[in-house]
Amino acid sequence: MWKRFTPKQTEYISGLIEKYGYVPRNEFAKLIDKCQFSYETLKRELERNGFPYALHNLKHLLRIVGVESKGHNTFDFVSFNKLDPRIQDLFDNSKLKAWFICKECHAEGTTNFSNINTRMFFPKEPICPLCINGKIRETPEWRKKNSEAQLIAQNRKGVPERMSEIIKKRYENDEYRKMISEAGKKVWQREGYRSKMKSMLVERMQNKEYVHKLLFNTRRGQKSGYYNEVYYQGAFELGFLMMEFKDRGTLSHIRRIDEPILYLHPSGETKRYFPDFMKDEVTVIEIKGGGPWMNLKVIEAKNKAAKKWCKENGKKFRILHAKDIQSFWIRQARVWLKLNHPSNKKEANG
Ligand SMILES: [Zn+2]
Repeated sequence: MWKRFTPKQTEYISGLIEKYGYVPRNEFAKLIDKCQFSYETLKRELERNGFPYALHNLKHLLRIVGVESKGHNTFDFVSFNKLDPRIQDLFDNSKLKAWFICKECHAEGTTNFSNINTRMFFPKEPICPLCINGKIRETPEWRKKNSEAQLIAQNRKGVPERMSEIIKKRYENDEYRKMISEAGKKVWQREGYRSKMKSMLVERMQNKEYVHKLLFNTRRGQKSGYYNEVYYQGAFELGFLMMEFKDRGTLSHIRRIDEPILYLHPSGETKRYFPDFMKDEVTVIEIKGGGPWMNLKVIEAKNKAAKKWCKENGKKFRILHAKDIQSFWIRQARVWLKLNHPSNKKEANG
């Protein structure tokens, strides 16, 4: 005879699901004691009752809640998107893939849940990267409407430090490079720059190597200065500031953080680091470049310390990755850097 939940236990578990959206890992452990079930029995009974629970295996969770598998590590995005948002949040760092049909071009596509959940533009919408890029240039209103709200809402949690496979694939695509090239031309024309730098930049935009550098800008040898009285280091930080300025018409809500946060370096030493910006005196913003040169353990240690510091000081912590700062703004930043630091040619390409 199989063990079953008592009505009281069922009621208790329903309460957990109401509270968390699913049975979290720590509550799962408590339930084993509470119900006097074995691990396997508890799993079986939760599943039999259709109670979602989150252990390490998120694939399993998707199966319990009825999200259709579309291949190896790939799941149907439309049904995923109907789940309790708190369950969806569990996938912000997941490498599992979302399968969808692009609502614009109707091509089939997949993208990591971590990307589709947390990206700045069109989060949680079935749209392919190429169509996103087409769209973000369409109207300034669209950009304005989306930029800040998305920035805050869609970057709730850290996304693993890694290069975006999508960006990599994209820039290898001839059509995409052409699009970048065209966009580059338009920016120059719109802003009325008529110098010889125009043709130089346009030429560069058609160069695969250059576009690569642009998208994978390292923080080494980067340029620093002031943009509307806020200090920046490198194109990503500047791109972020430009985006904020575009949105509010001022940067009075942004300041550089000058309090150091202590963190435990993987070497065992306690070190200091300064997160990048404070926004509205509420949100600590950390801008991450991205690339294979980064030490993930150090970044994790810093993030952990920053999160703790934020919690203790009543602040929110947001990490913005290169992919969260749209390539449009990174390009704008590069153009700006080019104009404002014209002397050092070597750095200008970096
Ligand atoms: Zn598309």
